Amino acid sequence: MDPNLRYHRQTLIPWIGPAGQQRVAASRVLVIGCGALGCVIADQLVRAGVGTLRIADRDIVETTNLQRQTLFDESDVAGQLPKAIAAARRLGQVNSQVVIDPHVVDIHSGNIERLADFSGQKPDVILDGTDNAETRYLINDFAVRDGIPWVYGAAVATEGRAMAVLPGRACLRCLFRDAPQPGQLATCDTAGVLAPTIAIAASYQVTLALKILVGRAADISPQLLTFDLATGRFHQLDLVDAKSSDCPCCARRDFVFLNTPGGEVSLCGRNAVQVRPAPTPIDMDAIAAKLSVVGTLRRRAYFLQCDLVEPPGWSLTVFPDGRIIVQGTSDTSRARSIVARYFGA
Ligand SMILES: [Zn+2]
Repeated sequence: MDPNLRYHRQTLIPWIGPAGQQRVAASRVLVIGCGALGCVIADQLVRAGVGTLRIADRDIVETTNLQRQTLFDESDVAGQLPKAIAAARRLGQVNSQVVIDPHVVDIHSGNIERLADFSGQKPDVILDGTDNAETRYLINDFAVRDGIPWVYGAAVATEGRAMAVLPGRACLRCLFRDAPQPGQLATCDTAGVLAPTIAIAASYQVTLALKILVGRAADISPQLLTFDLATGRFHQLDLVDAKSSDCPCCARRDFVFLNTPGGEVSLCGRNAVQVRPAPTPIDMDAIAAKLSVVGTLRRRAYFLQCDLVEPPGWSLTVFPDGRIIVQGTSDTSRARSIVARYFGA
């Protein structure tokens, strides 16, 4: 397909042009999280013709995702496909010229560096498609440390936010010093989310990313976009003086989220806890053999699941990257003890 024709409408935008399009086509982009924001981001970037798009996501497509996660359909739910895999399949049909590299993985301090390694080169930009503060603060630490631009985005109910975090400017912790405690903020599981909120926040993130990719990052005003679709209010918070001289991250360079091993997380609203006993990929055959004697085991292409005999009603989902989701409790210490009982870790 003739790229001049394919991207014609986009190259008419003055700050892109044919030269900008060439830079887009040579770019390496990392999208962390392929839920609602990540779907819109990945779709628009692939249509825009980025060179390589790496997608990292830990989840499986579920029925409640279909209302807003635009890369997935009912067959992905029926097939219990990981989001990264389902997204890559769809995106490959959208634009076969883009290298799409899906990773079914939970991003944590022990693997973010590896995920951001494009054959020895850094990504040109990282986009935040996550739904949790813990991962956003980790991205912020990593991107600031390595001087990589990243684009923050968030959407809950009808309210959204987005901003570019550029090297040398205010970072996420200049604005929001401490990560919120689990349960402190409203989430999509508790407050819901309207699909248009996602589309607007994610589309603005992609616009900022394209400016970075074409070499126009300096033209991005230091601003945080906030909006509420319920009232129609859009606001750009001026961040000219927001860079904090005692920011723990970008000023003192104390990268606490990067230097703390990822631990157990209670998965909000799902009566489940994610435990990560092994920092490295695990032997799925060995785990399957162990679990086959303690419950009903189902093997899938990308994970395995076991309904435990004891405690009744609990199940374990084991991923090749070393994660285990314990379904049946939101208590992290109970989840850890069950994992220790069956995995000895
Ligand atoms: Zn900062």
